[in-house]
Amino acid sequence: VGVLLLGLDGFRLINDTLGHAAGDQLLREVGERLQQLVHGSNTLARPGGDEFSIFVQDADLVQMEELAGQVLEALRRPFHVAGQEVYVSCSIGICFYPEDGRDNESLLRNAHVALHQAKEEGRNTYRLYRRQLNEDAGYRLALRSDLRQALDRGEFVLYLQPKVETSSGLVTSAEALLRWVHPQRGMISPVVFIPLLEETGLIEPVGEWVLEESCAIIRRLQEQGFRDFTVAANLSPRQFHQQDLAQRIGQFIGRHGLRAEEPELELEITESMLMRHEAQSMDLLRQLHEMGIRLAIDDFGTGYSSLSYLTRFPVDYLKIDRSFITQIGHSQEGETVVRAVISMARDLGLKVIAEGVETRIQLEFLRIIGCDLIQGYLFSPPVPEEELARMLERQARGERIGAGKADT
Ligand code: C2E
Ligand code: CA
Ligand code: CA
Repeated sequence: VGVLLLGLDGFRLINDTLGHAAGDQLLREVGERLQQLVHGSNTLARPGGDEFSIFVQDADLVQMEELAGQVLEALRRPFHVAGQEVYVSCSIGICFYPEDGRDNESLLRNAHVALHQAKEEGRNTYRLYRRQLNEDAGYRLALRSDLRQALDRGEFVLYLQPKVETSSGLVTSAEALLRWVHPQRGMISPVVFIPLLEETGLIEPVGEWVLEESCAIIRRLQEQGFRDFTVAANLSPRQFHQQDLAQRIGQFIGRHGLRAEEPELELEITESMLMRHEAQSMDLLRQLHEMGIRLAIDDFGTGYSSLSYLTRFPVDYLKIDRSFITQIGHSQEGETVVRAVISMARDLGLKVIAEGVETRIQLEFLRIIGCDLIQGYLFSPPVPEEELARMLERQARGERIGAGKADT
C-alpha cells in the first residue's frame, strides 16, 4: 500500500487573512478535487488540520509518483473562497506499507518525515520517505540500465494524438508521443523515462529515432492515401543543442521521401529551450525555418517570456499549455488570458493550438474565440499508428471523428 500525505502550503495565512469560514471552505474544495483522483478501493482521508492522506492499494513507486504529480496539478487551478480567487500549493510525503511501517501510526509518522522534507526543499513538490528513496535510487538505476538496451531491442514506440482543425472539424495532423514498452514493467510514461534519457545522454540517439520514426510514419500514412498529413515530434533541450541536428533531420526527410519544400514533419520545442541559449537557438531555428519545417512553441505560458519576444524566432504555432485550458469555465481571469493569447497570436501571424482539451465547454469557448487547432482527450488520447490510420479512413469516408464541427 502506498501512503501519500499532503499538507497545504501556507494554509495558516489563508485562515488568518480570510477567516476560518473561508479556510473551511477551501479545505472542502481541496477535498473535492482530491476525491476526483481517488478511485476504486483507494481511500482519501483528512488526518487533521490542513493535511490529507491518500492510501493506494497495490501501489508501486511509479504510480505513487504519478499520483503526486496529479495532486500537485489538481491544486494548481485557483480556488474560489470568500468571493476571492485563492491559489494554494501543497507539499507531499510518500511512504509504503509494509516497508516503511507496519501500522497506521508509524506509516503516518514516516510520511510526515517525507512531507517535511518536501516543505523544506521549497514546497509544491513531493518527497519519498528515505528508505524508499534508496530503493528509488535502485529503481532508477535499474531503469537506467534497461534504457540502454531499449532502443536496440525495439522497445520504443510512437503513439499519435490527433489535432483537430476547429474550422473544418478535420484531423489534419498529429503529435508523436514516445512510449517505452518495458518487457517486465509494461508501458512506462515518458514523464518517468525522458529525464533519465536526458541524464544519461541517451536522449540523443532516442531523439533521433523519434525524428526518423515520425518521418517513417508520415510516409506509411501517405502510402495508405493520406496525403498532406503532418506529424509533430517533440525535441528535448539536449537534442536542441546537437550540432548537426538540422542536417540530420534533412537526411530523415530525404530518406523517407517527404516533401522537400514544406516537409510534413513539424517540431515542438518549449519556450524555456529558446530562452536558455538564445543565439544558438536562433541559428538552429533559422536553419530549420529555411528547410520549411514548421515549428511550434510547446507548453506556451508556463515560461516567463513574452509573446512579442518569442515572435523574434521564426515559429509558426503556439501551443497553449493545458493548465490554461483547464481554467476555461472556472476562472474568468484564466479565460481572459486564453483569449488574449489567441488574439495576439493571430495579430502576429501565428496559429494557435490548444492542448489538453477535455470538455465540450472548453471546446466551445476555443471555437468561438477562434483557436485554430484542438488537441486533447475530448477527441482522442494518443493512439497507436494503426488506430490513427483507422480514424483517418473513417474520416475519408465522411464520418466524423470525436466531437468535431459537424456537431454544431
Ligand atoms: P507534451 O509535449 O506537453 O505532451 C502532451 C501530454 O499531454 C502527453 O502526455 C499527452 O498524452 C497528454 N495529454 C494530451 N491530451 C490530454 C488531455 O486532454 N488531458 C490530459 N490530462 N493530458 C493530455 P505524455 O504522452 O505522457 O507525454 C508527456 C511529456 O513527455 C510530453 O509533454 C513531452 O514533454 C514528453 N515527451 C513525450 N514524447 C516525447 C519525445 O518523443 N521526445 C521528447 N523530447 N519528449 C517527449
Ligand atoms: Ca508536445
Ligand atoms: Ca505541451
